[in-house]
Amino acid sequence: MGVQENKLLRTKKPAITHSQVSGQLFDTLPVAVYACDRNGYITSFNQAAVNLWGRKPEIGKDLWCGSWKIFHPNGEPLNLDNCPMARTLKAGIAIEGEEIIIERPDGTRINVQPYPVPTFNDAGELVGAVNTLIDVTEQRSSETKQAMLAAIIESSEDAIVSKTLDGTITSWNKSAAKMFGYSESEIIGKSITIVIPENRRQEEDVILGKIRQGKKVEHYETYRRRKDGTEIAVSLTISPIKNQAGQVIGASKIARDISKQKTNEESLQRYADNLETVNSVGRMVSERLDVQEILQQVTDVTTQVTGAAFGAFFYNKLDEHGESYTLFTLSGAPREAFEKFGMPRNTAVFHPTFSGEGTVRVDDITKDPRYGKNHPHFGMPKGHLPVVSYLAVPVISKSGAVIGGLFYGHPEPGRFNIHHEGLVESVATQAAIALENARLYEEIQKLNSKKDDFIGLASHELKTPVTSLSGYLQIINRRLPADDGNKPFIEKALSQINKLSGLISDLLDVSKIETGQLPLSFTGFDLLHLAKEVIEVMQYSTKTHRLTLESGVNKLLVTADRQRIEQVIINLLSNAIKYSPGANQVNVTVSVADNKALVAVQDFGLGITRDQQDRIFTRFYRVEDMAAHISGLGIGLFISKEIISRHNGRLWVESGPGKGSVFFFEIPLG
Ligand code: ADP
Repeated sequence: MGVQENKLLRTKKPAITHSQVSGQLFDTLPVAVYACDRNGYITSFNQAAVNLWGRKPEIGKDLWCGSWKIFHPNGEPLNLDNCPMARTLKAGIAIEGEEIIIERPDGTRINVQPYPVPTFNDAGELVGAVNTLIDVTEQRSSETKQAMLAAIIESSEDAIVSKTLDGTITSWNKSAAKMFGYSESEIIGKSITIVIPENRRQEEDVILGKIRQGKKVEHYETYRRRKDGTEIAVSLTISPIKNQAGQVIGASKIARDISKQKTNEESLQRYADNLETVNSVGRMVSERLDVQEILQQVTDVTTQVTGAAFGAFFYNKLDEHGESYTLFTLSGAPREAFEKFGMPRNTAVFHPTFSGEGTVRVDDITKDPRYGKNHPHFGMPKGHLPVVSYLAVPVISKSGAVIGGLFYGHPEPGRFNIHHEGLVESVATQAAIALENARLYEEIQKLNSKKDDFIGLASHELKTPVTSLSGYLQIINRRLPADDGNKPFIEKALSQINKLSGLISDLLDVSKIETGQLPLSFTGFDLLHLAKEVIEVMQYSTKTHRLTLESGVNKLLVTADRQRIEQVIINLLSNAIKYSPGANQVNVTVSVADNKALVAVQDFGLGITRDQQDRIFTRFYRVEDMAAHISGLGIGLFISKEIISRHNGRLWVESGPGKGSVFFFEIPLG
């Protein structure tokens, strides 16, 4: 635009005359209009012009314009006598569409487009000019806003796209082009489904459905397809675009590339999973005491979490050829893969692991200068599993001894990273502790079995002299006249010898049970009769308690080892008496239930707490408070339990502290 000569207005007949612009019509016009005389003095103006200028000009005094401060659109000051009105008057031509900025007295600025038109008298002489001022401030500011918006959209790192309600793409910014690989020109007018993977097309229907209802879809995480066919993880925010009437006419879509975030999330998740696995290995190995099991589990899990093609644990072994590794556990490869070759030796590559100096992680072992220098294979033996990526972590005990090493291999380079190193190192520490525990456990087991051997041997050795001692005493007793004053002493000695012999027999039984050699001989007999006999004999030597027998049957035939069942009843009865020092009665009940013979021995003594009830059946276990003042070896119930379970029966107790106890045993009838 610019100054244009208006030929029409240069004709003799002026389009508008002074008289026409003055008057009421002129005043009520919604557009600012004013007139100047030939010299530029303002001669008339309407109210709209006053509103625009923010002041009332003085007729005949103000020159060119009602505003004193005017500027070019770029903000540079514009001299009043160079304003469009001035130029129209000076040149006698109309000026159209040239924009200026005027500043009101209150400082506000408005964009104005003046349309000054010269006026001529009938003689065709220039007599003045009429200027119409169009306020374009709003238009300018919305244009500026739009330009800013466009700049923002173009410079955004997110893909910003707009589409119609049927999914046709109407705009496509630079980032969209970069993210999806389609240029603006090739995609405008196409359907948005072009970037939606086939299996996600129904997502678009759902999204457009929401948009039609005027709703926004925020941070919708999904996948979109690039021009090259690859998929990209994106977070979408889609908003409806409305026209001035508020109707939804399309949608704007912002797509953010979240593939990096997704990869990070995934690797974090993987890391957390790995940690969880390592923790569970830690828990598991600390519970186990079997060396083979511990190391197999450790090898399997670490091979899996490091992504190794195979992993192995080698024990450190010193032999006549020096230090070497003995393969112990292997994961991811068959044992034969290793057995053909000699085990790794303490060579330069392996040295840090052998010496416990630390972990060795190599991206490509074949490029390591120390590699391939040793006899006899000079590198990996022929036929060996191909190892390029290599990770080796020593397993070091608390005392500092190198127990062995965990080795991992992969045929491709650079497969192990610092995280793998850390994971395996922490597992190796746990494994070392577990292995030490297992070793201690093995030692304890060995000591235990030595103790068992000793008990077996000692009780066997004691049995012979005690038996002959008892025999000699019986002979002496028989030879002494009934009234001999020494007789009571001999009898006392005999009863003590019997007790001793009972204890030795029990110890011998324990050792037979341990070695699985407790012999049983089954015969048919009446269990009720046996119970009666035992009670009678025991009552004979028991002054403190009354022993009673109750039974709903007259006879109870069982097939069992009579002597061993007698041993159980004696044990339960003597315990009942022994552990009820304040009571004076013990009840025995014999009955039949469910095709089983059931014997119950009830006392009214000290009772047993719930948590002790299972333990009293274990070898050498005695409840501590009682053990202090009541003698015993803690093996009676252990032997009884074994005898009853060898009869396919069950022995158990029902008791409570201070309430007395009932010991039950049942064995199958028949
Ligand atoms: P011992 O009586 O020689 O200690 P047992 O194996 O027969 O060995 O019993 C193991 C432990 O069980 C006893 O030390 C005692 O603490 C507890 N016990 C056994 N019978 C009774 C009972 N009738 N009442 C209370 N405690 C009992």
